[in-house]
Amino acid sequence: ACKQFPTGPIETTACDYETVESVTETLYNELHSLVETPFFKFFRADLYRECPFWQENGFCMNRECGITTVDESEIPERWRAAELSKIEVPEGDQRTVLPGCYYRDSDYCFLDDLTEGDYIDLSLNPERFTGYAGPSANRVWKAIYEENCFGLSELGLLSSSNSPNPGLASLPDSMSGALVADGTESSKECLEQRVYYKIVSGLHASISTHICHDEMNQTTGEWGPNLQCFISRVAAYPERLQYIYFDTVLLLRAVARLGPYLSAYDYCATGTHDDDAETYERLSKVIDIARTVGRFDETVLFRGENANVLKNEFKEHFRNVTRIMDCVGCDRCRLWGKVQTTGIATALKVLFELDALALDPKSNANLLQRSEVVALINTLHRLVESLHMVQDFRRMWAETGVEE
Ligand code: FAD
Repeated sequence: ACKQFPTGPIETTACDYETVESVTETLYNELHSLVETPFFKFFRADLYRECPFWQENGFCMNRECGITTVDESEIPERWRAAELSKIEVPEGDQRTVLPGCYYRDSDYCFLDDLTEGDYIDLSLNPERFTGYAGPSANRVWKAIYEENCFGLSELGLLSSSNSPNPGLASLPDSMSGALVADGTESSKECLEQRVYYKIVSGLHASISTHICHDEMNQTTGEWGPNLQCFISRVAAYPERLQYIYFDTVLLLRAVARLGPYLSAYDYCATGTHDDDAETYERLSKVIDIARTVGRFDETVLFRGENANVLKNEFKEHFRNVTRIMDCVGCDRCRLWGKVQTTGIATALKVLFELDALALDPKSNANLLQRSEVVALINTLHRLVESLHMVQDFRRMWAETGVEE
C-alpha cells in the first residue's frame, strides 16, 4: 500500500480514490486552518466517567497520555456551560440515565452532559503516540469490533448462522479473528454490517496512522514518523487504508448535506470581524469540496422489509461505541476517541435520520449542538490529515529504494 496507490471506485460510494487524492492537499490545508479557529478548537468533554461495561484499571501513566485543559475564563462567554445549558438543554429533554451518569441521547451517540467536564483546546493536545497499549487498549478495540455483531439471522437477512449480538458481557478473550483481521466475512454479512466494519476499521487505521506519523522514539526521545510502524499496522493490510478513504467520503457527504445548515451556523467567537470571517470563508471552501467529492449514496442502505429494525440495531451499536470510549485508559486517547466517535455519529445521523426539511437551518436552527459541529469537522480533519500523512509515508518508502 506504500508503493501502490489505491485506484478506481471506492466500494459502496460513487467516488473514486483518484478524486479524493486530487483534493486531499487543498482540503487538508483548509481544514487544518479551520480547526485552529476558536469555534473549532475548543471542545468540552467529561473525560472521567466510569467505564460502564467492565472494571477498567488499565490507566496509562505515561506523560503523553495526559491532556492540558483550559480554564473556563478562556472560553468565549457564549459557549460556556452556563450559557449553553440555558439554550441547549431544555428541562427534561432527551436525557438518558445510564449507570452512574447522564448522557444526552443524540441518535447515534451519547453526548456528554453539557454541564459537566473540562474545556480542552484540541490544537494543544494533538492525537499522536502516547504509549497506551496492551490489554486495556486491546479490550477496547475488541469491544468496538464486537459491536459489529448484528442479530441478522433472526431477521432472516443472512443465509448462514451468524451469532446474534452477544452483548459486551460475553466477549471472547481473544480478538475476533477474521473479522478484525481483514473484514472479509462478506458472504455472511449484509451491506450495513460491512459498512459498520469499514467505518470502525477506517477510524482505527486513521488513529494508527497518527500514532505512527507522530511517534516518540523510546531510545532517543525524538518525535517523528516511523515508516515500519505504518507498514505493519496499516499498509500491510491495503483494505485498512481504503477504509480511511471510505470514512472520508462518508463524512464529506454529511458535510455536503449539511451545507446550508453549516453555512447558516453562528461561529462568531471573538466578535473580531477578521477572525470570524476567516472561519466562514474556510468552511465554505470545505463545503464546496464536499459537494463535489462526498459522493456516498446513503439511500442504498436500510432498505427493504426489516430496514427499521436493522437501522435501530446499527444505531444502538454505534451508540455503544461512543460509551465504550469511557473505557479507554488514556486521557488523550479518550479525548480523541470521543471527538471522532461523536463526529462519525453526527455524520450517520445526518445521512440516515434527517430529511431535507430537518436539515433546513430556518425551520430547525437548533438541529446540532456545538459539540457535534466541532466533532464533525475535527473528525474530517483527522481523516484527511491521515491521507496527507500517508503521502509522507509514500515518499519515505520511495526513498528506501525498495521495489517490492
Ligand atoms: P491495535 O491497534 O491495538 O489493534 C488490535 C488488533 O486489531 C490488531 O492486532 C489487529 O488484529 C486489529 N486491527 C488493527 N488495526 C485494524 C484496522 N484498521 N482494522 C481492523 N482491524 C485492525 N495510542 C496512542 O499512542 N495514541 C492515541 O491517540 C491512541 N488513541 C486510541 C484511541 C482509542 C479509542 C483506542 C481504543 C486506542 C487508542 N490508542 C492510542 C492505542 C492504539 O490504538 C493501539 O491500541 C496501541 O498502539 C496498541 O497497538 P497494537 O499494535 O497492539 O494493535
